[in-house]
Amino acid sequence: MALDMEPEIAALVGEIDFDPDALHAKYLAERDKRVRPDGIGQYVEVKAEFSHYVDDPYVEPGFTRDPLFDHVEFVIIGGGFGGLLMGARLREAGFENLRVVEAGGDFGGTWYWNRYPGAMCDVESYCYLPLLEELGYMPKHKYSFAPEILEHSRAIARHYRLYDQALLQTRITELRWDEAQSVWIVSTDRGDRFTTRYVAMANGPLSRPKLPGVPGITEFEGHTFHTSRWDYSYTGGDNTGNLTGLADKRVGIIGTGATAVQCVPHLGAWAKQLYIFQRTPSSVDVRNNCETDPDWFASLGPGWQARRQENFNTLVAGGDQEEDMVHDGWTDIFRHLTGAAAKEASRKLGRRLSGHERGQLMMMADYRKMNQVRGRVDTIVRDNATAELLKPWYRQFCKRPCFHDEYLDAFNRPNVELVDTGGHGVERLTRNAVVANGREYGVDCLIFATGFEVGTSYTRRAGYDIIGKDGVTLSDYWADGLRTLHGLTVHNFPNCFFLGFTQTAITISVPQALGEQARHVAYIVSQARERGATTVEPTVEGEQAYVDEVHSLARLGERFYRECTPGYYNSEGAAGNRAGFFSNMYGAGPLRFFELLREWRDAGDMAGLELR
Ligand code: NDP
Repeated sequence: MALDMEPEIAALVGEIDFDPDALHAKYLAERDKRVRPDGIGQYVEVKAEFSHYVDDPYVEPGFTRDPLFDHVEFVIIGGGFGGLLMGARLREAGFENLRVVEAGGDFGGTWYWNRYPGAMCDVESYCYLPLLEELGYMPKHKYSFAPEILEHSRAIARHYRLYDQALLQTRITELRWDEAQSVWIVSTDRGDRFTTRYVAMANGPLSRPKLPGVPGITEFEGHTFHTSRWDYSYTGGDNTGNLTGLADKRVGIIGTGATAVQCVPHLGAWAKQLYIFQRTPSSVDVRNNCETDPDWFASLGPGWQARRQENFNTLVAGGDQEEDMVHDGWTDIFRHLTGAAAKEASRKLGRRLSGHERGQLMMMADYRKMNQVRGRVDTIVRDNATAELLKPWYRQFCKRPCFHDEYLDAFNRPNVELVDTGGHGVERLTRNAVVANGREYGVDCLIFATGFEVGTSYTRRAGYDIIGKDGVTLSDYWADGLRTLHGLTVHNFPNCFFLGFTQTAITISVPQALGEQARHVAYIVSQARERGATTVEPTVEGEQAYVDEVHSLARLGERFYRECTPGYYNSEGAAGNRAGFFSNMYGAGPLRFFELLREWRDAGDMAGLELR
């Protein structure tokens, strides 16, 4: 039997109609084609001559206001889901004097910026949209479209009065700790210089667009933009399509990740000619969206959202649940590929599985799943050669799985051409064309669906540095890797909180992770208030103990990602990168992480934190 499987395990796997060893070899060969020595260095940073790619197309130009020199109790940086959840929990804890600072023209974060046609969330809305019960809101669909999520973000901000004192269209330029006053001095690009007792960073992990550093990128003279700054003044239309401005245009789109998967069907429907430049195909499974049934929604009892999130989160973390409430592509993948499947197998065998056996079962389930995803391409795409090129050859979680019912069908249109680059990417741009595989493709408009900067330093992505006690900068303090207590606080940086994925645990339903973090931070500052303390800061020992724990758990996914085709999940093939997306996660997973925070709060002794 292939993969040296013991007969017992082979019996569990059952009949297979493929050769797992050949598939493994194919995956490795596809990875090898794509690994390149420059890794994340292949991308250019959106600054200097590229800074216009991050201009805000959704606001009127020319906004001005007077700078502020006042004092607030709490500053939240970022008005996306992290900032909104932080604001909500602080309001609930009785914090009145708080200010959100946001670079965009409104709340919404990623949903403020990503308005491309077809933008939607492929995680179920009843779990994904925060605070549905608090706001009494019923999402329109099982999977929400971007405008609704943006509007819901605004509704949260209104509900919790976060527009009061908010500074929109404002970027932080520096945070500096004033030891004498025990306050942070906040400087912005609007000339503000105000102080705050506490500050929470909710900048978002995928917020800074990146561009491919291909030769000629500054020479292209046609129209161009990044998907996260969609130029509707050029394309016409809106999130639902109707891109009439493209009717006489030859359009090129570089990238075939989760974003492209959603906007390509609209581009195909409206552009005169669409070229899709592909380096690695996405795994695209069934979406199956539907409208929300109001009777079903009305029947959900109090506390339903927390229960549903818990159920979803447990399943997608590999845990066991009697019922699968969400029952979609995500839970399907996890039911087959994780601990739940292993548990079922061990029940059948009547004994515990060894780590090796567990790995074999997971791998076989993964191969089957991806065979099914590849098979789906054949059932939709009519041209066989195109279908072959759209098949992903890697394990399911090497890249972010996608779910969409119209993407593959777009390749059946006569005006849509897949330009597969054999894993090499586009070669260069000229004044009016994209060059790939040695051929020039003339385009009037070139859209970069090339994703977001990941794997560079935290302060580079944030766009400012933080100067803590005794002049210690965060960029220096984290130069050799992140150091935190529970991912949320950092020694030398009192009263400063980090929301997001700095040594915390991620789940598919990101807002839930952010919600748990916000709850924890609100608890800490409430306790500080109750205990009469003006500063909170992790001790050296407290921080070190947590860092040690994170490092000891970090090895778990490293081998898996080493065998993966490059992408931002594995730092473009350098799985050991300490600043990589998964390198700084709490390796025991979200369930254990949330439990850890809960146990810490329940103990009530603020272990590892010093309150002064
Ligand atoms: P990604 O980083 O996932 O994709 C970038 C794409 O650009 C990849 O296909 C990449 O190819 C391609 N690319 C980069 N350089 C070149 C080049 N030189 N030539 C050709 N192709 C190139 O970015 P996305 O914006 O698609 O998605 C980012 C994340 O945003 C997702 O992973 C997801 O977490 C989130 N998202 C979530 C959605 C949701 O529904 N919840 C929807 C959309 C996005 P290669 O793969 O070879 O590197």
